[in-house]
Amino acid sequence: MHEYSIVGALVSRAEEEARRHADPRVLGLRVRVGELAGVDTGLLRTAWDLFREGTCCAEAELEIAPEPACWGCPGCGEAIAPGAVLRCPRCALPARLCRGDALVLERIEMEVGDV
Ligand SMILES: [Zn+2]
Repeated sequence: MHEYSIVGALVSRAEEEARRHADPRVLGLRVRVGELAGVDTGLLRTAWDLFREGTCCAEAELEIAPEPACWGCPGCGEAIAPGAVLRCPRCALPARLCRGDALVLERIEMEVGDV
């Protein structure tokens, strides 16, 4: 399942970050998941709960922020309403996806010891 490899990547990012600090405690991660990213957020959460055991993220919460897809015209920049025909009403160019197709790690929350 591809959600597991995503979680694997998130945990290694957090580990990388944690290694730069003394006595780190990872409290939480926040990811932005695009509507068209092809990620099942339910599976992502399940994968997180299984995968984080025994890692630096064992106590960390995963916050998932869904991001709706957004379409626009590559010619005039006109925004295309969700659910509308994916073509610009003004210049008839096919709409282009401007966001909502990615999974982004937005934030790692961490508590660190004294250096
Ligand atoms: Zn246009």
